[in-house]
Amino acid sequence: MTTKVQTKTYNNYINGEWIASSSNAVEKSINPANKEEIVGYIQKSSLDDLNQAVTAAKEAKEKWRKLSGAARGEYLYKAAGILEKRMDEIAECATREMGKTFAETKGETARGIAILKYYAGEGMRKVGDVIPSSDSSALMFTTRVPLGVVGVITPWNFPIAIPIWKMAPALVYGNTIVVKPATETAVTCAKIIECFEEAGFPAGVVNMVTGPGSVIGQGIAEHEEVNGITFTGSNSVGKRIGQAALGRGAKYQLEMGGKNPVIVAADADLNLAVEAVIAGAFLSTGQKCTATSRVIVEEGIYEEFKNMLVKKTQEITVGNGLDSATWMGPSANENQLKTVLSYIEKGREEGAVLLTGGRRLEQGDLANGFYVEPTIFDQCTSDMTIVQEEIFGPVIALLKAESVAEALQIANNVQYGLSASIFTTNIQHLLTFVQDMEAGLIRVNAESAGVELQAPFGGMKNSSSHSREQGEAAKEFFTSIKTVFVK
Ligand code: NAP
Ligand code: MG
Repeated sequence: MTTKVQTKTYNNYINGEWIASSSNAVEKSINPANKEEIVGYIQKSSLDDLNQAVTAAKEAKEKWRKLSGAARGEYLYKAAGILEKRMDEIAECATREMGKTFAETKGETARGIAILKYYAGEGMRKVGDVIPSSDSSALMFTTRVPLGVVGVITPWNFPIAIPIWKMAPALVYGNTIVVKPATETAVTCAKIIECFEEAGFPAGVVNMVTGPGSVIGQGIAEHEEVNGITFTGSNSVGKRIGQAALGRGAKYQLEMGGKNPVIVAADADLNLAVEAVIAGAFLSTGQKCTATSRVIVEEGIYEEFKNMLVKKTQEITVGNGLDSATWMGPSANENQLKTVLSYIEKGREEGAVLLTGGRRLEQGDLANGFYVEPTIFDQCTSDMTIVQEEIFGPVIALLKAESVAEALQIANNVQYGLSASIFTTNIQHLLTFVQDMEAGLIRVNAESAGVELQAPFGGMKNSSSHSREQGEAAKEFFTSIKTVFVK
């Protein structure tokens, strides 16, 4: 990677133009692998900017809605082609902004391209059903209409895929959008919006306003002219957005945190389970909503599994995500690093036993970044903070269970229900897990963090507003059904 980084200022994208915020303030985006490096400057916008963007989206919505689905899909195909050409550049930018490895951000960009193509095709698929009327001389059917203006609020952990998996279905089903990306990764989002611009979307259909979540995010949630809000991020912020939207009758969708378990049964393929736990817990430095954070192991194989896991964990190379030798990058920002270290401290205080990791890494160049060791705690119990709260870092809590039935009880004993895995070769364990595990994503002999774009994605309990994203499920959120009776 030899690209010379220029520190550029990125403007808001409103009504087809790149314009600076009326507040005249900017925010810097920092590289967590090297805090001296400023990746770019982004606008620290005010509510005036947001109002302009919402007005533009509102004015564009009638024309956009009236295009055919296929015509709207064409714009997404074009955006996919442009993103494909800019793949390396945009992936590199994402690595510089939030730290995960270039291999991961490249994979994520490829995913973004596939999502755009999937929803481009969705423009030509069916939007309703014919339902037999009790009146034999009448025709009754359903059709779908867009919500209108949709606000898109996204986190930094998947800075390419998450904005795209919200924007693409919103647009293809006929909505116009105002995107508010995480401040941490707003430069990456601006580059994605450049791809949409080059694809030729009519002015006002796609808008982006960057700035503090408490101002621009909250402003979207409260804005009377925003008809739908799709949010991914933390629980505390999600709940506020849900309340604001509910209060004014807007449709909303919230995808939030997780505390995802992996159960390892005594009959499991242990090599497979170790590989999957390592990938699920430590890729993206543990900063996935679907990351593995609790590993519940049947007692007969506990010691053997633990030793295998610790050995593999100690082989992980931590470093700058742009270095091809690196397997795990830094935490995404200083606050994130501090949070992880404070959870590690809490784990120690509450009596969990540190098996490996636990420290900030500061040798040589690492001192300039926000690096933490991949960490495993032994002798954890369900009442511990590190077993209950989402850490969003590379930390595993190991728990021992007498049986798979007890493991399942432990697995369900949290407020979250996003993703869950079991490793077993026993069909009864597998079926019980599928039935009784309280999670929106159930994975058998596979890591907890794995998503396919054509299948519904979302959580149960406090992980979600119980809606689903992706695949066909996106249609449910981004449209309203009209039931039509024709006599
Ligand atoms: P976050 O702090 O909740 O931020 C998410 C977005 O909300 C950002 O754009 C943020 O803007 C904005 N925001 C902040 N305060 C706001 C407010 N008062 N009103 C409206 N918007 C506001 O989450 P994060 O730290 O970026 O992301 C990590 C979290 O996301 C984790 O909990 C993770 O589990 C969750 N996540 C869930 C999923 C899922 O699908 N279930 C997927 C990925 C991540 P600023 O950046 O400007 O603060
Ligand atoms: Mg950053």
